[in-house]
Amino acid sequence: MPRAHRLQTLLVHAGEPTPKIAGAVVTPIFQSSTFLRGAEATYDAVRYLRLNNSPNHDALHRKLAVLEGTEAAVVTSSGMAAISTALSTVLVAGDHLIAQRCLYGGTHDLVTTDLVRLGIEHTFVDGDDPAQWLAAKRPNTRAFYCEALTNPLLQVADLRGIATFCREHGLVSMIDATFATPVNLRPHELGFDLVLHSATKYLNGHSDLVAGVVAGSTALVDEVRRRLNRVGASLDPHACFLLQRGLKTLSLRMRHHNGAGLKVAEFLAAHPAVARVHYPGLPSHPDHARARELLHGFGGMMSFELKGGMEAADRLLQTVELFTDAPSLGGPESLVTLPSRTSHLGMEPVTRRALGIADALVRISVGLEDAADLIDDLERALR
Ligand SMILES: *Cc1c(COP(=O)(O)O)cnc(C)c1O
Repeated sequence: MPRAHRLQTLLVHAGEPTPKIAGAVVTPIFQSSTFLRGAEATYDAVRYLRLNNSPNHDALHRKLAVLEGTEAAVVTSSGMAAISTALSTVLVAGDHLIAQRCLYGGTHDLVTTDLVRLGIEHTFVDGDDPAQWLAAKRPNTRAFYCEALTNPLLQVADLRGIATFCREHGLVSMIDATFATPVNLRPHELGFDLVLHSATKYLNGHSDLVAGVVAGSTALVDEVRRRLNRVGASLDPHACFLLQRGLKTLSLRMRHHNGAGLKVAEFLAAHPAVARVHYPGLPSHPDHARARELLHGFGGMMSFELKGGMEAADRLLQTVELFTDAPSLGGPESLVTLPSRTSHLGMEPVTRRALGIADALVRISVGLEDAADLIDDLERALR
């Protein structure tokens, strides 16, 4: 598959087996745990489902690497499996990690509890303050971990600066690009070594599986994959098949999420009951200029505060009809949630408020419905 094709063409064709298997236009599901022995020279090459090398894994790995523009990629049984396996591959006991403040809840807990238990220290820094990065760096610092867009305030770190800082100081740069996807952000082109995703969200895009991705150089991804083979967090072939199917429409879906997201954000920002909106596509967002420079679209995620506080937020959640009160994001169905009750429930309220996350902050994931219907629904609920 020549690389010169554009992203939407690659989404459809990249990585698909040639010649087609038994003539099948779609890569079939290989629901077989083991395979006839070939001439495998290493344990990791033995064909067995846990070793992430079924025909479904191979096709998906090729497609994901082409999409990210990296040499290699590997899928995992969840986004957290990708994150925990990647971090524990890069870091060993005695190492130190610089991490962006305000990480995804599961990652925050992993860094502050599990990694600490393994003898791996960390320092949290702001994503836009190189002086803090330099102050945090120690002789044993091995990696820098950040996110493309933070949850739930949609901050955009100085991603180019972080990648450059890592290159200059010999650190492995890692980015969780779940909220952006390869359609809206090209982390490898910015200089990131490892790109991570919860494929549960936009990459699969249908709210019907959990999966993760690690993409990067062949050397790094091979290391992650060998560790994954021992950890055992491999993706089932049926989930591989569904993810591969979902990926084929990624850029079409992202185009809709980007367009509808901006319309809904603009509607909310202009509404008298709304105190403020956090959406990187709005000029009022503190990181708007950087978002415009780095992103090809602003996505479907946003959060906002209502002038009526918690009472108004509760009423909104109970009144909307097209938004389901559920965590997660990136599917066809629009979702609404209060981060203080879901994604950030585990965080001390003082810490949460210090990060700028109000108790009554409402987060929405704009789905694939018509934006006009979503706006009508919100309009009615806000009245
Ligand atoms: C959901 C999510 C994860 C975790 O992914 P799972 O597939 O639920 O394990 C990690 N990072 C971000 C930004 C997420 O939104």
